[in-house]
Amino acid sequence: MPVETNNKGSFKAPRPRQFGGGLLILFTILLLLNFIVPSLGPRPPQVPYSDFISQVQTGKVTKAIVGNDRIQYAVKSETDGTEQVFLTTPVAIDLDLPKILRENKVEFAAPAPNGNGWIGTILSWVVPPLIFLGIWAWLMNRSQGGGAAALTVGKSKARIYSEGTTGVKFTDVAGVDEAKAELQEVVDFLKNAGKYTRLGAKIPKGVLLVGAPGTGKTLIAKAVAGEASVPFFSISGSEFIELFVGVGAARVRDLFEQAKKQAPCIVFIDELDALGKSRGGANGFVGGNDEREQTLNQLLTEMDGFDGNTGVIIIAATNRPEVLDPALRRPGRFDRQVVVDRPDKIGREAILNVHARTVKLSEDVDLGTIATRTPGFAGADLANLVNEAALLAARQNRDAVVMADFNEAIERVVAGLEKRSRVLNEVEKKTVAYHEVGHAIVGALMPGAGKVQKISVVPRGVGALGYTIQMPEEDRFLMIEDEIRGRIATLLGGRSAEELIFGKVSTGASDDIQKATDLAERTVTLYGMSDQLGPVAFEKSQQQFLEGYSNPRRQVSPRVAEEIDLEVKGIVDNAHHIALAILDRNRDLLEDTARMLLQTEILEGEKLHAQLNQAQAPDELNEWLRSGKLPEEQKLMQTVLV
Ligand code: ADP
Repeated sequence: MPVETNNKGSFKAPRPRQFGGGLLILFTILLLLNFIVPSLGPRPPQVPYSDFISQVQTGKVTKAIVGNDRIQYAVKSETDGTEQVFLTTPVAIDLDLPKILRENKVEFAAPAPNGNGWIGTILSWVVPPLIFLGIWAWLMNRSQGGGAAALTVGKSKARIYSEGTTGVKFTDVAGVDEAKAELQEVVDFLKNAGKYTRLGAKIPKGVLLVGAPGTGKTLIAKAVAGEASVPFFSISGSEFIELFVGVGAARVRDLFEQAKKQAPCIVFIDELDALGKSRGGANGFVGGNDEREQTLNQLLTEMDGFDGNTGVIIIAATNRPEVLDPALRRPGRFDRQVVVDRPDKIGREAILNVHARTVKLSEDVDLGTIATRTPGFAGADLANLVNEAALLAARQNRDAVVMADFNEAIERVVAGLEKRSRVLNEVEKKTVAYHEVGHAIVGALMPGAGKVQKISVVPRGVGALGYTIQMPEEDRFLMIEDEIRGRIATLLGGRSAEELIFGKVSTGASDDIQKATDLAERTVTLYGMSDQLGPVAFEKSQQQFLEGYSNPRRQVSPRVAEEIDLEVKGIVDNAHHIALAILDRNRDLLEDTARMLLQTEILEGEKLHAQLNQAQAPDELNEWLRSGKLPEEQKLMQTVLV
């Protein structure tokens, strides 16, 4: 981790001015002094009012201070002539009292007006609002994560890494060669600015890195700073957005001021989408968030305002480029867009190599094989994988990390932690075994689906009671129609096996059904594969780099919505029938393999392949998958679901 330095004084976030709290304490003290202190000290003894009257009448009382609710009086001692003070409380307004006092020659007076009264009056006006103010300031403080945020306005929170200390070089970034090549140019701009400015060329100001989370966008930005040996400022787009309107804009101003002082340097803005969302359209904030709009405007102004040749280059990262305001991509702003994609097989191997540099590997570890088995993994997943494997090896007290550790680590990432503590009863275990073998047999016969590597009835992860791992043999970038149908059929293979064998179904298939339906819906609404509806997109394709998020539907008429639903149901139903037909054909194999699985709990390697190689595809399978339909008479009567 780069060392965070605070040597540039102005980057230290100033302490919040908690004036509310301070004043409150001061006034509380004053209040105490005013009201409580005078009443401290020895209190004169209290006597009944009747005793006081009789003392007056016997001529013992010399002086009295008569207040509305208390009377303080002095009695002269007969022996030594000293005066002793007493207190009494009048029973009611005694109108005769002055007369009695006068008759007995007592010196009396009303109490002097309270000299501190005005302080009390002022305090009674000032303190309540102050209490509210104090509570408000405290709440603000809390709502903004305490510390510097409360009433600190506008200072940039960018972290600064002093020259060269990002320590990251291009050799630390692997598998994203195109992005590296593009950014190599930026390094050259920073190192040899003169070469370009001499001819009157303008150095680009902004580079936008676009890619899925964990693909190494931050890492590559750090590498640019490291390669060029320039300071690296980093701030996240969401940190600009504060509760108060105008704070974000002030932060942007401050950030650019600091950056210009440190030029040449790299300013890295992560999650640019948090502040640069389009000001119109579906994801925009029409008439809404003033703070975001002001911050964005300030960013645009700053980017236009500084001379590109000062040597400040802004690198921003986002995984939602589609929501960015088009103004951000105008020439002179983030006009260069670099895609940092998920790595392919060769890229994954290179990334594994980078992270395995610091790990002791045994001879049998083949990073190429691991790369093959991890399609779809981003750089961060692979870094995590190597670490998991190393942790597993350490737990086993091994001298080096072996291939088995990597295999277990992959399974952990794909399926979650093993949970042997979750004990299934016999019926459940049997259901799970048939369910998994159902997936495996259907999966083994499907085109482009990859090899079934392992079946297990050991519970794993959050909800899986068993699992089947199917690994593609190569990276695939497209899925053909029949492969999608095959995939849906495979997903429904588990449930179909339950139906076929037990005549009743369990709740275990819910996740499969969810995935199958999602995929079927996408074939209709996104890939335009429905004959009925044709190549029309019913979804807005937006989340290019965020998998697993559903896209919003386009506006469709109720009739079309109904047709979509029917098509989706048709696809799922047909795939279900295909799975049932395959399993019916291979019923003996299904029973045999499930029995083996129940005995050993895990089936993999040669033993598994020998079993699955016996699976026989129905003659018409390819035809079914191509058309997505099964003739009515070939549809297997479902044994349940009446
Ligand atoms: P992003 O900013 O795209 O979300 P990061 O740059 O924060 O991703 O990546 C997180 C970590 O994953 C990095 O610190 C690094 O260890 C690892 N990593 C990601 N991509 C790569 C890559 N291409 N090469 C090497 N390591 C990578």
